[in-house]
Amino acid sequence: MSEKVVKTDNDWKEELSPEEFRVMRKHGTEPAFTGKYWDLKDQGIYKCAACGNELFSSETKYDSGSGWPSFYQPLSQDKVGTQIDRTLLAARTEVHCDKCNAHLGHVFPDGPMPTGQRYCINSVSLKFEKKD
Ligand code: FE
Repeated sequence: MSEKVVKTDNDWKEELSPEEFRVMRKHGTEPAFTGKYWDLKDQGIYKCAACGNELFSSETKYDSGSGWPSFYQPLSQDKVGTQIDRTLLAARTEVHCDKCNAHLGHVFPDGPMPTGQRYCINSVSLKFEKKD
């Protein structure tokens, strides 16, 4: 079990930019094709922008055509958690950072093999660390 990061909304508001706060703490979504990572092809690790938890590898990133960074699996299953999001008519599965509970995006069952999953993640929830 990884150590949890628990903070109040006021704490997060001080640490995060307004857009980071809106997406990660208020379940917001950045507009498609506007984030800094949807088209990035560099090799490295994508961490949680709020707590630094290592979430995804560039090795499982692919171009889904959605305009958001898309991965077919997290670095390991215990890095992220999921819950049902019923804010739209069709229920979606929301993905959050397991360590700090930041909202990351959603996961859909239309991804490529080997998992068939599409982790559709907001760039603003991620911090990329390039590997040489
Ligand atoms: Fe986190």
